[in-house]
Amino acid sequence: MLSLSDLQVAGKRVLVRADLNVPLGKDESGNVVITDDGRIRASLPTIAQLADGGARVIVMAHLGRPKGQVKPELSLAPVAVRLAELLGRPVGFVPQLTGEDVQLAVSGMSDGDILLLENVRFDPRETSKQEAERGELANELAGLADLYVSDGFGVVHREQASVTDVAKRLPHAAGNLVQAEAEVFRKVLRDPDRPYVVVLGGAKVSDKLAVIGNLLPTVDRLVIGGGMCYTFLAAKGFDVGDSLLEADQIETVAEVMRRAEEAGVEIVLPIDVVVARSFSADAERKTVPADSIEPGWMGLDIGPASIELFATKLSDAATIVWNGPMGVFEMEPFALGTAGVAEAIAAAGGFTVVGGGDSAAAIRQLGIGEERFSHISTGGGASLEFLEGKELPGIAVLEE
Ligand code: ADP
Ligand code: MG
Repeated sequence: MLSLSDLQVAGKRVLVRADLNVPLGKDESGNVVITDDGRIRASLPTIAQLADGGARVIVMAHLGRPKGQVKPELSLAPVAVRLAELLGRPVGFVPQLTGEDVQLAVSGMSDGDILLLENVRFDPRETSKQEAERGELANELAGLADLYVSDGFGVVHREQASVTDVAKRLPHAAGNLVQAEAEVFRKVLRDPDRPYVVVLGGAKVSDKLAVIGNLLPTVDRLVIGGGMCYTFLAAKGFDVGDSLLEADQIETVAEVMRRAEEAGVEIVLPIDVVVARSFSADAERKTVPADSIEPGWMGLDIGPASIELFATKLSDAATIVWNGPMGVFEMEPFALGTAGVAEAIAAAGGFTVVGGGDSAAAIRQLGIGEERFSHISTGGGASLEFLEGKELPGIAVLEE
């Protein structure tokens, strides 16, 4: 996989796939505002390095899920404005992805100029399952440039025109972000410093079971909280009341626990949980032992004894990977578990990696300094697939 420094970019037109998929909101006067510009910031080093190197930088990205239709509220226009502010230099914007206006804008560029194209997902061919359709769009995009740089880590697990098909049509390299992310995940997958502890939480057990399966040969300890822990508690034979439960996964979970034991991997589950009468911030709630959840109650966070236990299990770790919040942190009464574990990870001092969109959001929402973690991934789905051991098409294509 080539990196930016392997390319001669001066005077060249460089097409960059970035991940600028930021959350949008509205201000008091109803204007669209960017509520979290983390992903734009993460894209700056590559764009700035290319422009500094004299490239004509053509950036493409997606925003939201317009499903192949032009949705004005998902235009990248406000992103172009923020990108320019953060870069401290002008960024041109064309409200199209391909066609005459785009060709005109590109032919008018000088060395060091930056141009952002409109939302790639306004074009149905971007996400088409038909390679021929994607290829048609990829031909049009590749025709705009001399080189391709892949820097949208959040989309490298997708087989999409701007991610994989364009890469096949132009000399290519990984941008700084994709390079850094791939390095981190390769390191924790292949050669983690020990003890190596993985903390898993969040909502979907079935998604994360594949991760556990792939990690068993390398990990020393698995700490499990969040919505997924109730299927584990159920597999141990406990009643979980109205907690999130994937009943059809109980057998698989039991099997995973047996395999973990054989492999000498310690599985740490909560010993107490915060249960509530309903899924709401002001529901009646109490803390109970993990084996004593009564019918009519649902576990929405790990309890204080679990936080302490998890912190102990993290304190000696040399490598920690964390994916998935410990509770429904979006509601204040159920955020303590996630905050406590995040704090314990930040305090652990080894190499600490956070993957998962909601986990990264939790760190920001809870005001835990991002600089206290070694790496916070920008790609939730991509980081999970990396940990599952899957080949990511957007990475594989760069290795060709
Ligand atoms: P990530 O994006 O970090 O990979 P997930 O998407 O898997 O995490 O899960 C995040 C979601 O899981 C959050 O919205 C959170 O509210 C929810 N969650 C965590 N604990 C529970 C629980 N005990 N019951 C229901 N949902 C939960
Ligand atoms: Mg998520």
